[in-house]
Amino acid sequence: MELRATETEFCWTVRRRRYWRTCRRKYFLHYYASQGGFDPYAPRSARELYAVKKGISLDSYVRRLVNLAIRECFYAPVDEEMPETPPELFSVAAHRAGWEFQQMLEGKTPLVLWELLQSDFSPAAIHREMMEKLDVFCNQVTCNAWKTLAAIPPCDRRAVASPLALAIAELKCYLVPVIAMRRAGEIWMLEGAGEEDAGDEISVLGKFAAAQLWGTPPQQVRSFILSGDDGVFTEVGADADVSEVLRGIRRDVGEMCQMIGDDGSVREEDFPANAKMCGSCVFRAFCRH
Ligand code: SF4
Repeated sequence: MELRATETEFCWTVRRRRYWRTCRRKYFLHYYASQGGFDPYAPRSARELYAVKKGISLDSYVRRLVNLAIRECFYAPVDEEMPETPPELFSVAAHRAGWEFQQMLEGKTPLVLWELLQSDFSPAAIHREMMEKLDVFCNQVTCNAWKTLAAIPPCDRRAVASPLALAIAELKCYLVPVIAMRRAGEIWMLEGAGEEDAGDEISVLGKFAAAQLWGTPPQQVRSFILSGDDGVFTEVGADADVSEVLRGIRRDVGEMCQMIGDDGSVREEDFPANAKMCGSCVFRAFCRH
């Protein structure tokens, strides 16, 4: 299969890095073969790949719901009649889960649970499992990370766009910050995308973001992600070497761009499959390795 790489703007994200480093065929399917699949008149393969690309696992979706609930509650105006009563994470997250799930069933949003793409899915069973997981995770976060976050005074909460586009020289990158705050002269950022294995990159991009948004020196910026196991937030990239991380990103980007021909073409066979990663890969039905 040969496609054009020039139809979408190139930008670096932690997901792009993960796919590039784990399975390049997956990278090709996600970033190139699904191009234009949002168009109902696009070829069927592009439409199906796009649907899978926009999909999300139940666990990731629950984490996304909780991150969005944290963001909504953290930046909610203080209730002057009950200033000591912060909004409840579960009710905010459950409200979103309810209407988004309905939209998924009606095909009104590109966002969809992978579980709903299975031929034998049961909406009621998936909904029940989703709400149970949401209840457990919200309880964990409410008893841990949220206790700290809810106590941050409004004057120390820093508004931040999400997703957040950053320009590092000529390279466009994206972060997905949940919230940002000032803590003892530092800026702390809670990142919503990526795992601990991308912690150094998340931390370095957080430093660039804080410098560009608030003029904060890099040594005064710390990044965190929310742990899915116990609802605490974990610092990432505390010892990241900024120069080394930037070199790594540029090396990856250089290799990614080398795969694009002078005429803007990309060929599937140039992106080798990594059969060791097939276990839970959602592209298995489309992968011809
Ligand atoms: S099925 Fe395996 S080889 Fe194919 S894209 Fe997925 S991980 Fe890569």
